[in-house]
Amino acid sequence: MAYDLVIIGAGPAGISACLYAARQKLKFVCIAKDIGGLANFIPEIDTYLGYHYMSGYELVKKFREHLRDYDVEACIGSVKSIKKRGKNFFVDADCGKYDAKSVLIATGRGFKRLGVDGENEFENRGLSHCAACDGPLFKDKVVAVVGGGKSGLLSTMFLLKIAKKIYLLEKNSKIGENHVSPDIISAIKKSKKVEIITNADTTAILGSKFVTGLKYKQGEKIKVLNLSGVFVEIGYVPHTDFLRGFVRLNYRGEIIIDKENETSVKGVFAAGDCTDIQEKQVIVATGEGAKACMSALTYITEN
Ligand SMILES: Cc1cc2nc3c(=O)[nH]c(=O)nc-3n(C[C@H](O)[C@H](O)[C@H](O)COP(=O)(O)OP(=O)(O)OC[C@H]3O[C@@H](n4cnc5c(N)ncnc54)[C@H](O)[C@@H]3O)c2cc1C
Repeated sequence: MAYDLVIIGAGPAGISACLYAARQKLKFVCIAKDIGGLANFIPEIDTYLGYHYMSGYELVKKFREHLRDYDVEACIGSVKSIKKRGKNFFVDADCGKYDAKSVLIATGRGFKRLGVDGENEFENRGLSHCAACDGPLFKDKVVAVVGGGKSGLLSTMFLLKIAKKIYLLEKNSKIGENHVSPDIISAIKKSKKVEIITNADTTAILGSKFVTGLKYKQGEKIKVLNLSGVFVEIGYVPHTDFLRGFVRLNYRGEIIIDKENETSVKGVFAAGDCTDIQEKQVIVATGEGAKACMSALTYITEN
């Protein structure tokens, strides 16, 4: 028998949708690569009502504890595709295949990658995407932040108190000064610790067991920096590649939804960071997950 609903993703949006689906006694399954998603990386959160200063990991633990009161069928794996099959949807994941009346996508987003040599090899061995999480490991060390946009500038600001020296590498001719507050720009520019290098195209991450440096191209010249750590902070990409040609996405690859969280395909709903909702926050994602699940319930009931 077909499921009522398949929920894809178990970050704040997906977990919240699971709670609503379970309370409505829907026949549903949650397919996710991990539990907690990006929320696990939040060093400290004070914007989730009811919980003061807590790490994202601890908050996700609370979410999981809440769900334990309910019977939730889970499939830990990655969804490869969704296809319309008659009135239903066929969801193909590497942990199972499901036929459902409705689908709720809450796949969030991930860190954008440079796509250069050494990037995969040195991930978590000196290469990080989160200065707020891993910065303290580089106390009094020489590091580079790759990316002079909002993420890169905020990370540089965070590292000012920790690192001995910070090279801030920007591919374009200037850093994104209007992406953050003037106070942050002024602190970065005034600091003797920071060296801003513009027109710098990172071409490789270097190392043996751990990161030892990076290579970048500036004009015709190839240059090398000796480093203990590299923070790649060039933004985020929504986890929506598997949806291309199935639902409408915007130019950023985010799923376009209406105010009922419905996508361009009737019966397919989406919530959280993978959508074109501007605010990417835990409290917003949980609310959106609940809203999308209630819309799915209405759809299932009416159809
Ligand atoms: C460093 C950092 C600091 C942050 N600080 C804050 C903060 O202080 N306050 C705040 O409110 N927010 C903060 N955020 C943002 C917050 O983490 C996100 O807004 C929130 O996690 C979004 O929830 P989500 O459920 O939409 O997506 P996610 O949390 O990213 O979860 C996505 C889920 O989808 C799964 N998934 C993805 N693709 C597939 C697939 N193909 N098949 C199956 N499963 C899939 C993943 O495994 C995961 O379970 C921060 C984020 C970062 C990175």
